[in-house]
Amino acid sequence: MTHVSLQDLTKVYPGAASPALDRLSLEIASGDLVAILGPSGCGKTTAMKMVAGLLSPSAGNILFDGRSVLKDKPNERGSVMVFQNHLLFPYMTVAANVGFGLKMRGVDPVQIAQRVDRMLEQVRLPGLGGRKPSELSGGQQQRVALARALIVQPKVLLLDEPLSNLDAHLRLEMRDLIRTLQQEMSITTIFVTHDQEEAVILADKVALILDGEMRQYDKADMFYRRPADGAVARFFGGRNFIPGTSDGASFEGPFGSVKLPPDAMAGRGELTFRPENVVLGGCGPNQLACLVAQKTFLGTQTRLILNTGGTSIEMTGNPAQFDGVRVGDHITISLPPDTLWMLTA
Ligand code: ATP
Repeated sequence: MTHVSLQDLTKVYPGAASPALDRLSLEIASGDLVAILGPSGCGKTTAMKMVAGLLSPSAGNILFDGRSVLKDKPNERGSVMVFQNHLLFPYMTVAANVGFGLKMRGVDPVQIAQRVDRMLEQVRLPGLGGRKPSELSGGQQQRVALARALIVQPKVLLLDEPLSNLDAHLRLEMRDLIRTLQQEMSITTIFVTHDQEEAVILADKVALILDGEMRQYDKADMFYRRPADGAVARFFGGRNFIPGTSDGASFEGPFGSVKLPPDAMAGRGELTFRPENVVLGGCGPNQLACLVAQKTFLGTQTRLILNTGGTSIEMTGNPAQFDGVRVGDHITISLPPDTLWMLTA
C-alpha cells in the first residue's frame, strides 16, 4: 500500500499562455481510490501522466510513501496507467497481453501462466486467454487492459476514463469490478473522469478541477452538502441559487429572512439548496408562501417551479405527494436550515 502526495504540481505546456494544471496538491491515503473530476480540458490527463512519469512537471513534486519519484523513470515508479483507449497488443493473445508485464520482469513462465489464469478469473474472463483482442467485445477488452495493469501488483493504479467507451450496462459492471478488485488488492488508485456520478459512486474522495485549478478535495457527499464555491456547486448542478446577504445566522433575500445552519458564512452572495430538500407544507422553520408556476412529471419524481417574493424555487419529490397540487395553487413550503448553504463572494 502506498501513500501518494502531490505537492503544487504544475504543468505549463511550451508556448501556452496559462498552465494546463496549476499547483495541484493532494494527499492520497494508502489503499484509497481518489477520483480527479472535471470537465474536458481541465488538466486531468496531464496530472495523471505526470504521476505515471510520462510527462515532467514544470513545478511541484510527487511523492510515493514520502519519497520523491520525479527522477524515477515510468517503469521504476511502480505505477501503472490504464488509458481511455486501452492499447492491447493486437497480435498477442489475451493471455500474452495480460502476462506481458510479468514477462518483462523475468517471472518464470509456469508462474506467469498460473497468475494469468487467476487474473482472468478475477476480471470475469475465465478461459478466454487463447483469444486475440479483436475476438473480444469492447467491454471484455477493457477488462483485459485492467487485468494487464493489476497483475503486476502496482503500488499505484492510474485509470484514465476507463469506463468512457462502454455502454450503460457495461459501465455499471466495470465500475463494480474496479471497486471490488481495488479493495481486494488494496491498491492506491487515482481515477480520472468527467462524470460526477461515476466519481461519487466509486471514489473514497473526489478532487474537483476546474480550469487547471483544484477547487475542492473532499468526501463525495460534501460536494452535495457543502460545495466550496459557486463554480463547484454549479458543476454538480441541480441546485437553487438565490442572491442575498447573510449575517452568519440568517439570510436576507428576495423572499424575506430565513434561518441558516450554525456554520454558515457571512457576507453577500447566494443561498443555495437542493430541490429534493425543499419540504412541502409548513411544519418546520423557514416557511415560505409560494405560487405553483409549473408542475412536471419526471417518472420517478415530480418537479415544481414555485414563485415567491419575485424569485423562482425548484422543488422535487415523490410524485404521490404532489397529487393534489395544481399549477396556480398557493402552497406553503419550508427550507430546513441544515439543508441550506451560503456561498459568499
Ligand atoms: P479530457 O477529459 O478531454 O481528456 P483533460 O481534463 O484530461 O481533458 P488534458 O488532456 O490534461 O485535459 O489537457 C489540459 C489542457 O492542456 C488542454 O487545454 C489541452 O489542450 C492542453 N494540452 C494537453 N496536452 C498538451 C500538449 N501535449 N501540448 C500542449 N497542450 C496540451
